[in-house]
Amino acid sequence: MVDARRTYGAGDNRVTALDGVTVSFRAGTFTAIMGPSGSGKSTLLQCAAGLDRVDAGHVVLTGIDPARKSQTELTLLRREKIGFVFQQFNLLPSLTARQNIELPLRLAGRTPDPAYVDGVLADVGLRERAGHLPGGLSGGQQQRVAIARALVTRPEVVFADEPTGALDSKTSRDVLDLLRRMVAERGQTIVMVTHDPLAAAHAGHAVFLADGRIVDELAEPTAESVAARMARLEVAPC
Ligand code: ADP
Repeated sequence: MVDARRTYGAGDNRVTALDGVTVSFRAGTFTAIMGPSGSGKSTLLQCAAGLDRVDAGHVVLTGIDPARKSQTELTLLRREKIGFVFQQFNLLPSLTARQNIELPLRLAGRTPDPAYVDGVLADVGLRERAGHLPGGLSGGQQQRVAIARALVTRPEVVFADEPTGALDSKTSRDVLDLLRRMVAERGQTIVMVTHDPLAAAHAGHAVFLADGRIVDELAEPTAESVAARMARLEVAPC
């Protein structure tokens, strides 16, 4: 649950990135956060994930309020309870696909169970590519490694920031189908920032931001309903 106000800068340079946003993400749901550039999507994701602080309000993440935690506790919380997927994959180039996927477990001081990691690799369709370095994989395969890495600790929430922003449309669809399958089959909770109506249509719920406020929500969004809503937002006077 996020109930947030966030401003950056001071005086004339003050920018209100989030202007009293209240949103909750129920367990086992897939939410798309949409909105024009500068509407506060990334700030909301950062605050929801406990990577950025709110000036007023609260973030309650997996039952914990990050504002009440020390930096060390927050690092542990992020490592254990949250997975991240980024537009640019952010894989370590000198590690194989399997080693990249195992990394969050090793960082948490756990010894990866090979059979378990094989299962995660199979879930994302990469059993045959486990020994490849990221440089030897396609963009879509690299993003599937990144998704496997996000899922390997069985986090309560996966936050994805424009996960298909660097992929072509066919590969994007495969990656979005994978995310949706993780929600349907594993009950994974996913929160995804996107500006792409086709991507948002894979989610069960879309939240629209404009000028740091939630201006609309859609259940079972379609590419058409999302595009129509976005078109109205982008022409709306400030
Ligand atoms: P979006 O992801 O929808 O493009 P952002 O959350 O990145 O929007 O930004 C919302 C507003 O807050 C923008 O006006 C942006 O310039 C401002 N903003 C975001 N991060 C910072 C920051 N670290 N310092 C100053 N202003 C920021």
